[in-house]
Amino acid sequence: MSSNSLRSILDKAFSGERLSCPDALELLRSPNWTDVVAAGDARRRALHDPAIVSYTAFRVINYTNFCDVDCTFCSFKDEIDSEHGYTLSLEEIAAKTEEALALGVDTIFIQGGVNPKLPLDYYLESLRLLHGKYGVHVRGFSPVELLRLSINAGIPLPELLAILKDAGLGSVPGAGAEILTDRMRAILSPKKLSGEEWCDVMGQCHRQGLPGSSNIVFGAVETLEDVVEHLSLIRAQQDKTGGFLSFVPWTFQPQTKRFTVRHVRGDEYLRMVAVARLFLDNIPNIEVSVLGMGKELGELALRAGANDINSIVIEENVLRSSGLKTLSAAIKFIREAGFTPRRRTLNYEFGKYPDAEPVTAR
Ligand code: SF4
Repeated sequence: MSSNSLRSILDKAFSGERLSCPDALELLRSPNWTDVVAAGDARRRALHDPAIVSYTAFRVINYTNFCDVDCTFCSFKDEIDSEHGYTLSLEEIAAKTEEALALGVDTIFIQGGVNPKLPLDYYLESLRLLHGKYGVHVRGFSPVELLRLSINAGIPLPELLAILKDAGLGSVPGAGAEILTDRMRAILSPKKLSGEEWCDVMGQCHRQGLPGSSNIVFGAVETLEDVVEHLSLIRAQQDKTGGFLSFVPWTFQPQTKRFTVRHVRGDEYLRMVAVARLFLDNIPNIEVSVLGMGKELGELALRAGANDINSIVIEENVLRSSGLKTLSAAIKFIREAGFTPRRRTLNYEFGKYPDAEPVTAR
């Protein structure tokens, strides 16, 4: 591709004109990756205060690791009825929540395997405990968990979502998207819901007033065409229901011997951040996963289109890696990267933490 046509695509993106799928493919293919990254940064600066980088914090509670879905990359799950699996009691969930609150973390991210033996009451009691008793914001349940719970409980999904929301569910993660194309789902997660179902569940959540995030997990055997189709499906869903507050590019982390993780180069990751910023013109926030990519690349991603560092995660079982572990570490990271930190809620509300500095920062 000539640099002239790359320039015209980048100019189009910068002026706010929507990019086509072939445009996105060219941005992913062009040898001039630094131009793409610079355009991602320019667009982020036009849309957000260039000085500010936001952050948030939550505790992950993986309430069960029993799962009857068999994703090839997963080392977290145990077979239903396995002797090694677990389901947390309400007391254990309460103890983890109290630990989070003691650290100044007032959001719980609850997610598990797909455990058909758990009744709806378990979910409702957990939500009432978390939101009702402790007052935390609860982000919870991936689309496959929600869909399977709806089927198991015999309750249509919109009705189920309303019940969960009433019990305390505040938002939903876009978990389990990986790559939404049929080809990649057949490779990665043939027993999970399809890409179309994933979009549909997220859309129904949005319609029920449950916003959330979206992501891509790459670094397997996906093609650039798979990546563009994935981005396009998310953008199309956002056009319909508008509940994706952010998009996060993640990479697969080594977990099991039966799944080979490809090395994702730094320039490849930065380009993905930039293309997400340029192509997903209807999603306001692009988050960098410092948890997954490390601090050096995370810092650069804030100059490639990202305006947020995703979050501090106190506990994460499905994606094993290291990242920012405390609120003060997040603040330090953002300052050292040359930005002013601003704490937000999981739903991108800023008024709750006016001082940016958490009282209990360590
Ligand atoms: S990634 Fe989630 S749905 Fe897939 S096997 Fe693991 S726990 Fe189950």
